[in-house]
Amino acid sequence: MLRTGITPDKLCPPPLWVDELGTTDRRKDEFLATVCHELRGPLAAIQNAFRLLSSENAETAARQRAQVLMERQIRQMTQLVEDLEDVSRIRYGGLHLRRERLDLRVVVGNAVETLESDIKRRDHQLTTELPDAPLWVHADPLRLEQVFVNLLSNASKYTDTGGELTVRAHRRDAMAVVRIRDSGIGIAPETLPHIFDLFNQADTRDPRSRSGLGIGLALVRNFVALHGGSVSATSEGIGKGSEFVVQLPRED
Ligand code: ADP
Repeated sequence: MLRTGITPDKLCPPPLWVDELGTTDRRKDEFLATVCHELRGPLAAIQNAFRLLSSENAETAARQRAQVLMERQIRQMTQLVEDLEDVSRIRYGGLHLRRERLDLRVVVGNAVETLESDIKRRDHQLTTELPDAPLWVHADPLRLEQVFVNLLSNASKYTDTGGELTVRAHRRDAMAVVRIRDSGIGIAPETLPHIFDLFNQADTRDPRSRSGLGIGLALVRNFVALHGGSVSATSEGIGKGSEFVVQLPRED
């Protein structure tokens, strides 16, 4: 089947499935291109570092830098592959939670600790407000930490240097509530309803958006739902910051 405006001699024959692609598949195509791009960066960096390590003339300090760089890039690629595995596990029902009684304050604290170096590097002012008493939930510690790491990492990633981040946990009726607010780039009203969709990137003109895969928030929504909770996003608009609110059933 030919598409209007394109003459046959200018076309390489398209793969058979091209004309059957719908919006979702087109997004998947873009997504695959982004995955390649995301893997190419760390691979090139690892390759350079490896060359340096193989060279007999390299100085000790340069070798150490190369090792640190390789480790960081390998961690980044591992995270990417794990996120992709989670997407497919969720899709095909292979994700099993290992739930236990947890104090949500500890989980949130661990997530903050994980992001500490990013927050410092970007000179963000972080305010953390946690209740004095434990906030018990019945949850998988790793998955729940992943939820808050993803939200907090986005809050930092999409906020300019020197901006403000707030993490607040409190109880409301039978729920434990965690609010992650930032003073960053904000989200357009028309984008908000789709922000948790898989492969969604709100503003592809923003280079920070382009650097991600649009998986993080989809994982957040699914992990929270698997725990019987919900997550929502609000923003007063572009440039006005955002707030993500996670609600989980409390276990007393
Ligand atoms: P990504 O890897 O692209 O960051 P996410 O699923 O985590 O993927 O986020 C999807 C999109 O939502 C991002 O590309 C970004 O445009 C937007 N977004 C997420 N968190 C925020 C935030 N705190 N402030 C502004 N935009 C955000």
